[in-house]
Amino acid sequence: MRLTEDQVNDIFDRTSSKCHLCHKKLSFKNYARYGKQGAWEVEHSVPRACGGSDRLNKLYAACISCNRAKGARTTRSIRLRRGLTRAPMSANIREAAKRWKALGGGLLGIVPGAMLLGPPGAVLGAALGAVLGHEQDPDND
Ligand SMILES: [Zn+2]
Repeated sequence: MRLTEDQVNDIFDRTSSKCHLCHKKLSFKNYARYGKQGAWEVEHSVPRACGGSDRLNKLYAACISCNRAKGARTTRSIRLRRGLTRAPMSANIREAAKRWKALGGGLLGIVPGAMLLGPPGAVLGAALGAVLGHEQDPDND
């Protein structure tokens, strides 16, 4: 299957430029350049040998070494070996997840802040919790 440049771009962005199997950072310019730093290729989440299709939403960016090592095994079994349960998030989903974490962090900060410093502490604790929550990488959950 030939992919257009746009399709390759979409696939790369879908996992925030990380390998969907090991979450390692990939280099866009090293697409299909085996042996280069961050080299990657498009991977069929369901191997064609197992009835996988070429539909675009089944295609993911993967390190060339991950992809070759995967063979006909399932994505799930490869990710679980590394303690991962899903593909890295796309940029949009990451930002939404980070906002939720900021909200959660803010709520968590209110009580300890208030206990330490009273009402101004509650505001401070909420702000600090929100910043810390937002800084976390949602892929590391
Ligand atoms: Zn990988």
